[in-house]
Amino acid sequence: MEPTQLTRELAAARDALLQVRLALDVERERGITLTFRDPLTGLPNRMLLEEHLALALARARRAGTSIAVLHLDVDAFRLVNDSLGHLAGDRLLSNLASRLGEATRSTDLLSRPGADEYVLLIADIEADEHRVVEEAARRLIDALDAPFTIDGAEFQVECSIGVSLYPRDASDAPELLAHADSAMYRAKTVARGGWALYTAAAEIDDPRARLSMSTRLRRALVRQEFVLHYQPIFEVARGALIGVEALLRWQDPDRGLIPPGDFIPLAEETGLIEQIGDWVVGAVCEQQVDWASRGLHPQISFNVSPRQLRRLDFSDRVAGHVRRTGADPTRLTAELTESATMEDPVECETILRDLHAHGLRLALDDFGSGYSSLSRLREMPVGTLKIDRAFMREVPGNREAAAIVTAILRLSRALGRVAIAEGVETEAQHQFLADEGCPLAQGFLLARPLPARGVEELLALTF
Ligand code: C2E
Ligand code: CA
Ligand code: CA
Repeated sequence: MEPTQLTRELAAARDALLQVRLALDVERERGITLTFRDPLTGLPNRMLLEEHLALALARARRAGTSIAVLHLDVDAFRLVNDSLGHLAGDRLLSNLASRLGEATRSTDLLSRPGADEYVLLIADIEADEHRVVEEAARRLIDALDAPFTIDGAEFQVECSIGVSLYPRDASDAPELLAHADSAMYRAKTVARGGWALYTAAAEIDDPRARLSMSTRLRRALVRQEFVLHYQPIFEVARGALIGVEALLRWQDPDRGLIPPGDFIPLAEETGLIEQIGDWVVGAVCEQQVDWASRGLHPQISFNVSPRQLRRLDFSDRVAGHVRRTGADPTRLTAELTESATMEDPVECETILRDLHAHGLRLALDDFGSGYSSLSRLREMPVGTLKIDRAFMREVPGNREAAAIVTAILRLSRALGRVAIAEGVETEAQHQFLADEGCPLAQGFLLARPLPARGVEELLALTF
């Protein structure tokens, strides 16, 4: 080969290599941007916020400085969404983000960890943190003074801000974020349109009892004290066992088996539910694989708390568990409460679509108790409606409750959804469901929640 030709080919090869590298860099950049930034506003998402907070905490511990976390929640955001639709809601959110951005100093980090919430992180505060917080909160609140114009309509938007401080209120990132969040709820009730500092005493009557309970819950996770029981779900007409609902219990070494109603509210409030819920998903996946390996294939439902739905990475985490365990996602059903789903529709729809795209089935829990927009329901990839137990309790005796159940059954048929009646305790209720053509039911009359072993015995009888 001619030397000049060789050089040319080499140069061409090098160029090609460069192109590939460039393309790879761009891909990587894009990947990083996607995982760390909220696509709607371009602001850092929860993951990036947590990363910054961890670094800020490390610096603060070394330098003896303080950190403030300001959790900002937009009041009445739902109104815009409901009256003008999601696109308008999205536009409002991104306009809001730019106004808040302008009101933020360049050294502070403004992020968007959830649908209509923003978190401002102020690190490296050397002195007078109250003044720093006061000024920052003022700037954010003032930034929303002027109305927003969306689709020609003017909107006055208010926000409530909750603040927690390191080291005053908490020593680690999850707790700081959780405290800012709970301070925000207090701001909503006592200082709407204003801001509130976290105060432990205002939280409950006996803060000491609470602390020990949340410490124990945290420990329960580490010590793997949670267990799942499974309540069978049956076909009403033929009695076949077609699925189970995973229900969480806490096996406390001191107090025995504790029902979810006794600890989930606190776990919700402290944010621990995110880790607990994550454990539930992992455990359900493992159970599915274990049962499948023995030829048992029930549909397995698990409950998702509203708070989990506020995590942008929720569906990714679920998909991660599915991949890790090799579970069949089509055998898994995520149960979301009707009210949680309708509360944060923008964020929620993305999560629902993602879960659906990963192959999971979706169910609306406690249906009938919340307020549902039928048009939205029609668009949602939700295959199952679970009729709220409160209605079943009064069926068939109470005519109104019976009418509601019948209406939900008709609605679900019209929309091509499957209905499950919960809390079936009596023969009369079961007969009513059979007469009304309800496809599926669960309840103490049919079977109580059982440990996995118990379900296996039942399945062996029916499969
Ligand atoms: P849910 O999702 O509505 O679950 C059904 C509840 O009804 C269960 O209570 C079940 O034991 C109970 N139940 C079933 N049949 C009957 C019946 O015939 N009569 C009566 N009176 N009750 C019946 P459980 O296990 O105490 O769970 C209560 C709630 O705790 C659940 O309500 C759900 O909201 C929540 N929960 C349970 N497990 C989890 C979980 O893993 N994650 C989250 N976030 N929440 C969970
Ligand atoms: Ca449920
Ligand atoms: Ca339910």
